[in-house]
Amino acid sequence: MTSDSSDLFGALFETPALQRAVPVLVPLPVPGAYSYAVPEGMHVEPGSVVQVPLGPRQVIGVVWEGGDDGKVDPKKLRPITHVFDCPPLDATMRAFISWIAAYTLTPPGLVARMALRAPAAFDPEPMVEGLRFLGGTPERMTPARARVLDLVQDGFSWTRSGLAHAAGVSTSVIDGLMSQGLFETVFLPPPPVVAKPDPEFVAPRIAGPQKEAAADLVEMVKGGGFAVSLIDGVTGSGKTEVYFEAIAETLRRGKQVLILLPEIALTASFMERFQDRFGAKPAEWHSDLSPRMREKVWRQAVTGEVRVVAGARSALFLPFEDLGLIVVDEEHDPAYKQEDRVFYNARDMAVVRGRLTGFPVVLVSATPSVESQVNGQTGRYTTIHLPTRFGDAALPDLHLVDMRRHPPERGGFLSPLMLRAIGRTVERQEQALLFLNRRGYAPLTLCRVCGHRFQCPQCSSWLVEHRFRGQIQCHQCGYAERTPDACPECGTLDHLVACGPGVERIAEEVERHFPDARTIVLSSDLGGVKRLRLELEAIARGEADIVIGTQLVAKGHNFPLMTLVGIVDADLGLANGDPRAAERTFQLLSQVTGRAGRTGLKSHGLLQTYQPQHPVMQAIVSGDASAFYDREIGEREKAALPPFGRLASVIVSADTRQDAEGHARGLRQAAPEVSGIMVLGPAEAPLALIRGRHRFRLLVHGRRNSDLQSYLREMLSRGPKERASIHVQVDIDPQSFL
Ligand code: ADP
Ligand code: ZN
Repeated sequence: MTSDSSDLFGALFETPALQRAVPVLVPLPVPGAYSYAVPEGMHVEPGSVVQVPLGPRQVIGVVWEGGDDGKVDPKKLRPITHVFDCPPLDATMRAFISWIAAYTLTPPGLVARMALRAPAAFDPEPMVEGLRFLGGTPERMTPARARVLDLVQDGFSWTRSGLAHAAGVSTSVIDGLMSQGLFETVFLPPPPVVAKPDPEFVAPRIAGPQKEAAADLVEMVKGGGFAVSLIDGVTGSGKTEVYFEAIAETLRRGKQVLILLPEIALTASFMERFQDRFGAKPAEWHSDLSPRMREKVWRQAVTGEVRVVAGARSALFLPFEDLGLIVVDEEHDPAYKQEDRVFYNARDMAVVRGRLTGFPVVLVSATPSVESQVNGQTGRYTTIHLPTRFGDAALPDLHLVDMRRHPPERGGFLSPLMLRAIGRTVERQEQALLFLNRRGYAPLTLCRVCGHRFQCPQCSSWLVEHRFRGQIQCHQCGYAERTPDACPECGTLDHLVACGPGVERIAEEVERHFPDARTIVLSSDLGGVKRLRLELEAIARGEADIVIGTQLVAKGHNFPLMTLVGIVDADLGLANGDPRAAERTFQLLSQVTGRAGRTGLKSHGLLQTYQPQHPVMQAIVSGDASAFYDREIGEREKAALPPFGRLASVIVSADTRQDAEGHARGLRQAAPEVSGIMVLGPAEAPLALIRGRHRFRLLVHGRRNSDLQSYLREMLSRGPKERASIHVQVDIDPQSFL
């Protein structure tokens, strides 16, 4: 705690006679902190994690800065109930929370809550019972006892089970020795969740162009201070090994490291590679951790025991003791955008955290976001290129399948060209991956007799048939019902038809053509991260011939035998009116086709499309990524779209369509007149109904340097007041336009 304001606070708090009041951020959607009294003898400072009464409840809060203005008599305030025995959030963490709150127009208490996601971790972990050798010899020596005594001679403490394990004996051997008074009981600090990574564990695995790239990153880390590097390298170019060297240098300098990964739960192979390089795994942070593990990791990141965390976007809010580097792998990935409560992009906020604290940030991608590319071009970021695959692995040969000229047979979705390629791959005993970003069997079911379409009762989305489960499901809200036999509208039996394919339906088609091949479907419907990890490992070992998967298979996995990647519907993402549609499609398809040929076998990618002339398709097959980016950047600039202009969307939802529309119109009318900023809409959202809530959207567009936040604040404060049934959500830099 070195900032001026905290010294001032410290001085104030030392004065024992005064009843003091301090501001505390509580986890509520209120604009600022609430004042609480500090009871006699309690020490708090800005950043202290405390428990305070709030109405009838006790909640967790953080003591904030900004003084008590003296207007409230501390005697009238409710006192802080408890101060937790954990290091306070430091000044840079508090600045980070305030910055995000202001940028995203979120109440600061809700942002602070994201940093405090491990309630039981605020007090120290209990000590663990252990034992220490006192000296002496047992009445009777056995080989097992001798092994134990040999280990404990150095006088170190052991846990009972750890000692038994190390000596290769059962715990009863230890108990026997204890009963003879050879050991004393001691209390040990709880074991770290992971061992300390060692930057010198093995020599760096870098060669050729990786060397220069790694040297540049190491220089950046040595330089200290804020800087951003973008590693732009094709899939398989060895980007991971390169940024490992930035991590090694950060560890040498005694600082902590955060690695952000999309789909962290699926990247077991990443953890192993890290261990190969550093001799220990990073601590993991994601929503599938057990609460107990989450608490341990939180605590040990705060105390500095954990040196490296690999996590999903929420790891960005861990209050590290001394963070010195953030790596954002697959920086373009849409999974970094949270669209729930606090709307933020973890990639962008990682850069903010680096700037506020003063440490370097490394962004990594084979297909960087347009935003990062532009930052590279303008020199705000340093771009490091790795243009070729490591070793003898070549990128797959990519071809378009023009579906107008080579249509699938009736009732099918795979072109004869695709089927032939799969057949040849299976014959060579290699693997084929078919990619379709649609779960289930069919995205729409309708009645052939009356035309009735099955729609979710609470959302404006079609119910997706899941044939394996015998259900039709809403992918918005999870609503599900048994697949009916009769049409609820006209009552006709057995005339329901499935329209369009999902992965289950492609699997059915594949099994019809290749009955002897081992086929597996991979999607989030498999349920559970463990199951998925097992399936992914089995595929990597070659235990499947044909894999049919959603975007889950696109990320980071290494399948040595995979030599064919087939994209079932390359046009799928292009049609949705999203300004990033072309970019997203380019990224996703490049990433999926990049799964093939990673170990030197000749590999192919086939993309089924009805628009082979589309610039995205052309960019992918020509391998000319820079032509694609140049064109895309040019178009964004013309239309003043991000990063050449700014966008925010305002989503109004209400119980009735009328309320939603009326409120949205009211906001529109309250919009101030500011040159360079304009409001589009309101318009009914493409997803007009979600969970029974009607939705309208406004889109605010501003020039590059316009102050959208002030504009929005003014619009919201002048506009109609929110009522209980009406909810307004602001999304700065929106990624989704649904
Ligand atoms: P990217 O992250 O760019 O897709 P990776 O870092 O996963 O690429 O590297 C691709 C493959 O090449 C991996 O199997 C990796 O182990 C291997 N590899 C990368 N660099 C080296 C190296 N210097 N020596 C040996 N193998 C390497
Ligand atoms: Zn629904």
